[in-house]
Amino acid sequence: TLSSPATVAQDATHVFHRQLRHGLPVAVSGQGMTLTDASGKTYLDACGGAAVSCLGHGHPEVRAAMHAQIDRLTYAHTSFFTTGVAEELADLLIDTAPAGMSHVYFVSGGSEAVEAALKMARQYFVEIGQPQRRHFIARRQSYHGNTLGALAVGGNAWRREQFQPLLIDVTHVAPCYEYRDRRADESAEQYGQRLVAELSEAIERLGPQNVMAFVAETVGGATAGVLTAVPGYFKGVRELCDRHGILLILDEVMCGMGRTGTLHACEQEGVVPDLMTIAKGLGGGYQPIGAVLAQGRVVGAFRQGSGLFQHGHTYLGHAVACAAALAVQRVIQRDGLLAQVRERGAALQALLQQAFAGHPQVGDIRGRGLFWGLELVAERGSKRWFDPALRLHARVKSEAMAGGLMVYPMGGTVDGRCGDHILLAPPFIASEADLGEIVERLRAAL
Ligand code: PMP
Repeated sequence: TLSSPATVAQDATHVFHRQLRHGLPVAVSGQGMTLTDASGKTYLDACGGAAVSCLGHGHPEVRAAMHAQIDRLTYAHTSFFTTGVAEELADLLIDTAPAGMSHVYFVSGGSEAVEAALKMARQYFVEIGQPQRRHFIARRQSYHGNTLGALAVGGNAWRREQFQPLLIDVTHVAPCYEYRDRRADESAEQYGQRLVAELSEAIERLGPQNVMAFVAETVGGATAGVLTAVPGYFKGVRELCDRHGILLILDEVMCGMGRTGTLHACEQEGVVPDLMTIAKGLGGGYQPIGAVLAQGRVVGAFRQGSGLFQHGHTYLGHAVACAAALAVQRVIQRDGLLAQVRERGAALQALLQQAFAGHPQVGDIRGRGLFWGLELVAERGSKRWFDPALRLHARVKSEAMAGGLMVYPMGGTVDGRCGDHILLAPPFIASEADLGEIVERLRAAL
């Protein structure tokens, strides 16, 4: 039997929890690297919730900025007004964005960012007189959100299955999954070239003139435990998209905003997408906020065309959310936290290697910056997974919670490709001692 967390909410009567059959501890406060429940038990946050809390919890400067904004102005609908704080945040995001990106479209979270990017791509082709482009190409083992459009581009068949038919046409191709898919006789570069060739074949099958966009997480996150691209892969993808006039949409909702050691993960791939989604670390969990960053030429097509993006949500560009995000990003810049992510990331990698390289149930350890995944296997030699019915990832999470550690579990799906993974995405403020404690508690849980 599993040990269960100390204080369990008896609220299943009225709250429609995601997991209706499990009790959850009641969180009452958060400070720095930890959350505390109603019994006084503390949990070391090794995953930032879901790669969200990049500055940790209760940061005094973010709280102060939010309070000040609340005292000044909370809500001004974007059909009537813009706000100084939204403009300032947009300036900061464009000043730090890859060259060519000129505009920010604010939303309230990751799925909304993906939906907005998909619709922007669709309308872009209508604006430039290519309305026949109706197909998206995305990748298997990807996660882009739970709203219907984002679910359709997501590459986890199990999540999509019961919601078919989905509303948009999507073809899925293989992601970069070196641990399982790179052949023994292939170099990493050759493997990347093979994936690009497969993408090219998919484009040819659909007819290049019918394809709108290729959608991918720059570093895969919530479905297959941190999938980093092999060198050259994204350059090849970018060239292919350019050759056929296809937009490249990079989803950096999870891997972006400093998580991998550069502000945007695509900087490390040497490519600039046409549209990029960000969320999670943008507001660091202090307020729901997300955004789409768009290249000037995409925005230009709307300007010269209808002059109106046919989209919008009630809360987009919410003043308090923008104030929180602005404060989070300013602290990251001022305190040099991207460099710290790289440095602590290297320390975390070394600790994980030390603790788990010889562990019989850890098949692969992979990641970048402070974004790491462990792939759990029943047998290392054959890379055989545990029976998904065991829900090993969920058990490890429960054991970790019992031991006062939050790690993010992923997997256990029936399509045979998601397996069992544990994701680590600690706040950027984690000290080396915190990282040591995280790895020690995770080892105990495993
Ligand atoms: N895209 C990616 C890459 C994500 O990891 C997530 C969330 N895990 C989303 C989109 C959806 O974001 P949200 O949960 O904020 O809607």
